[in-house]
Amino acid sequence: MKDTSLSVATPNPSLTSGKQKLALAVAGIGVLLLLITWASGHAFSPLLLLLTSLGLMSAGVWLFVREEYLRRPEGIKNNGVWFKSLSARGVWGWLAAIVLTGFYTVLYFFPEGWLGGLTQVFDPLSRGLRKMPADKWFVYGSLYTFSILALGVKFIYKYRHSRYQLLRTVSVMFFQLGFAYLIPAFLQLMQQPEYYFTYFWPLKDYYGSPSAVRYYGSATSISVYFIIFSALMTFVATPVLTYFLGKRWYCSWVCGCGGLAETAGDPFRHLSDKSLRAWRIERWMIHSVLVAVVLLTGLLWLNSWQKGGVLGSFSQTYSAIYGYLIGMAFSGVVGVGFYPLMGSRVWCRFGCPMAAILGILQKKKSKFRITTNGGQCISCGNCSTYCEMGIDVRHYAQRGQDVVRASCVGCGICAAVCPRGVLRLEGASADVGQRTQATRTVHIKLEDVKIL
Ligand code: SF4
Ligand code: SF4
Repeated sequence: MKDTSLSVATPNPSLTSGKQKLALAVAGIGVLLLLITWASGHAFSPLLLLLTSLGLMSAGVWLFVREEYLRRPEGIKNNGVWFKSLSARGVWGWLAAIVLTGFYTVLYFFPEGWLGGLTQVFDPLSRGLRKMPADKWFVYGSLYTFSILALGVKFIYKYRHSRYQLLRTVSVMFFQLGFAYLIPAFLQLMQQPEYYFTYFWPLKDYYGSPSAVRYYGSATSISVYFIIFSALMTFVATPVLTYFLGKRWYCSWVCGCGGLAETAGDPFRHLSDKSLRAWRIERWMIHSVLVAVVLLTGLLWLNSWQKGGVLGSFSQTYSAIYGYLIGMAFSGVVGVGFYPLMGSRVWCRFGCPMAAILGILQKKKSKFRITTNGGQCISCGNCSTYCEMGIDVRHYAQRGQDVVRASCVGCGICAAVCPRGVLRLEGASADVGQRTQATRTVHIKLEDVKIL
């Protein structure tokens, strides 16, 4: 039966219908096929297995989300997210976190012997696209892209009432499929060095290092342009685009990490910690990672200029330590593995050095803001609940104050879930520094307040 309730809270969790159970079973068989192949270490008829598995998963997701969202009116309600085991840190949530962290741990630290079966499954696809055998990164990239595409379709059904959300989702799907998957594969097919056009320094620390400049500068006649493109994106496009659009142009429209968070991570966005303590920790951590990558890059260039006289043979180890700790353990194992426990933007919020730079620019020199019409706010708290970056949007809305926060990725979900149309993502006529002079928020602790 079609649920026509317009209640914002919908305290009762929606029941899984018969059709949805069937859809889950179909998708589950697809996942099971891959898991059995992974566990056995061998793939029989890899191409058939891959097509069957991905086909079943796509069909299952599609059938499930049609039934889930088309039987309700457009617009977002809580839909019982706090009552579902998977999205409320219940048994299924913990299980999902263990499986995800386990997958990333194996991928990064113990690939030998573990990923043999999976690699065989993806081998025909790899040979078809790149004319080379599959490796663990091809398997990972394929699964990553598939997740963004399949769950992007889910996102589109869910947020179909918002044009901004539709465009943004199509954008992250397009950039992931084209610029982070097909184009790098095409470059390899053409005997060119692999290059990812959606990642720049400092997120991809290697692209700013002397080794990358040497390698791309001399590998082929085309690859020198990759490094010029990378430098232009970091030093020209990033400040200019952030000035006009805020950090959303990258974090919510282009970046693959953001793309996965917005699509696969959407059921967990409300789990982000909204406390002031978390805000304090977030600022310390993200800026520490930024300082670490700036120091790393600076030292590597100094070392290169001094012909190895600064770090000596330690320079490789030094980069590797950053890569293991930040690139693998933090952005991968914790960043995605903790989706079901800490929300979908753990990495973007606490660790990403690109987000740190974009955040500083957004806070200090950008026209982007979220305007609030305080008179219309009914304090339902939907905006704060669904803010994946842990921003208490309602606090600003109640005061009719612009939301100007370094961490805001401009996903626009707060505006999409507001039942009163209070919030608008806008580019102002003056930049943030001038606008917030009069309305800057000052946070003080209770113990600092003295009554004389
Ligand atoms: S404040 Fe709104 S636009 Fe910004 S990150 Fe939170 S939900 Fe997204
Ligand atoms: S701004 Fe909208 S979503 Fe947020 S508390 Fe007010 S009415 Fe609710």
